[in-house]
Amino acid sequence: MKTIVILGSTGSIGTSTLDIVDRFPGEFRVAGLTASGNDEKLEAQIRKFKPRIVAISDTSAATRLRQRCAGLPVEILAGQEALSQVAAAPEAELVISAIVGGAGLVPTLAAIRSGKQIALANKEPMVMAGKLMQQEAHKYGVRIFPVDSEHSAIFQSLEGHRKKDVRRLILTASGGALWPLTKEELRDVTVERALQHPNWKMGAKITIDSATLMNKGLEVVEARWLFDIPESQIEVMIHRESIIHSLVEYQDRSVIAQLGLPDMRTPISYAMRYPGRLPLDLPSLELTEIAKLTFCKPDHDRFPCLGLGYESLRIGGTMPATMNAANEVAVDAFLKGGIQFTAIVEIIRSTMDAHSPKNVDTLEEALEADRWAREKAESLVAALAH
Ligand code: NAD
Ligand code: MG
Repeated sequence: MKTIVILGSTGSIGTSTLDIVDRFPGEFRVAGLTASGNDEKLEAQIRKFKPRIVAISDTSAATRLRQRCAGLPVEILAGQEALSQVAAAPEAELVISAIVGGAGLVPTLAAIRSGKQIALANKEPMVMAGKLMQQEAHKYGVRIFPVDSEHSAIFQSLEGHRKKDVRRLILTASGGALWPLTKEELRDVTVERALQHPNWKMGAKITIDSATLMNKGLEVVEARWLFDIPESQIEVMIHRESIIHSLVEYQDRSVIAQLGLPDMRTPISYAMRYPGRLPLDLPSLELTEIAKLTFCKPDHDRFPCLGLGYESLRIGGTMPATMNAANEVAVDAFLKGGIQFTAIVEIIRSTMDAHSPKNVDTLEEALEADRWAREKAESLVAALAH
């Protein structure tokens, strides 16, 4: 029996994680849950999974949650700082980090510093402060297990091999909702259209990141830190069907890959139960029914965000955090109808151009770069909106 905490339990990854807990009640016990504001959903989760402690960052949602849960044996904390308290719950062995965006950095680092093993879905903290997170993980004897499907595939393809034999990591990308569109068509794309991902049902932010290919730019940075491999050995390939989740090429040119139907419960459960595998009752991959898989190179002209991911790594220091923060602001503005789809990359580009990178040795330095970039990107959004 493993005791877990889920940061971001009401989201897409959080809900899938609880689905696994529900299917394997003898395997996991839920000690803590967190959410930003969905008190109704969190209440249902509290009633079903009976955590000892929860945190909700929105304080008015916390007041409602306390009323809803009056009489239940659960401690309800309110505010952003409370997330770290739940992340460090003494009885927890594994923390599933599934908040979206940079908001997950502080609680995820708090979990690492409390010696919790981490199942990491929340990629943005790795982008903001990957080196620091790995240093801290090393210091506190923590393993960070990837949940992101590509990184889980690489992790599985590296098992039993020597790192020095690795030649390349090849991340696959579905290309997202807008891959077939021309540059002109991309400009006028609606929010609804950009949210129609062909293979995965995910939260809104990552679905837009998939459509711009920024998600793959973030994943290149994530891979660099998760696997301690320089960006020159990380490649990206478009694979529309999302069946091959990623590949590792070795020095002898042998390629090992992990395949499966696109369902996040597979990589989530692997991170939760490593090195064991849970007997998930999901459809099998039948390659004879799929019959054909396709591959092509990314198109940097139509989707320049992927290149920004590489560029941020080459520059290093605070540049990936700057890119990430500008992307969060721009995607949020697009989702609210404030800017055009193609303005997302322009805002990230201009924010990165205006930034003077510094080293990231501390959490405060990462957070300061994040604050600076958000302010800069917000001013760019405001200028576009006029
Ligand atoms: P989501 O939007 O569905 O859920 C996000 C969760 O985080 C919710 O519980 C929400 O309440 C919480 N949250 C949001 N903002 C917060 C804040 N400021 N403070 C505290 N909590 C906050 O997102 P998701 O699709 O589940 O993605 C979560 C993370 O996992 C992202 O980093 C994403 O890139 C990554 N990821 C997701 C998928 C997927 O299939 N959804 C796949 C790979 C990686
Ligand atoms: Mg992914």
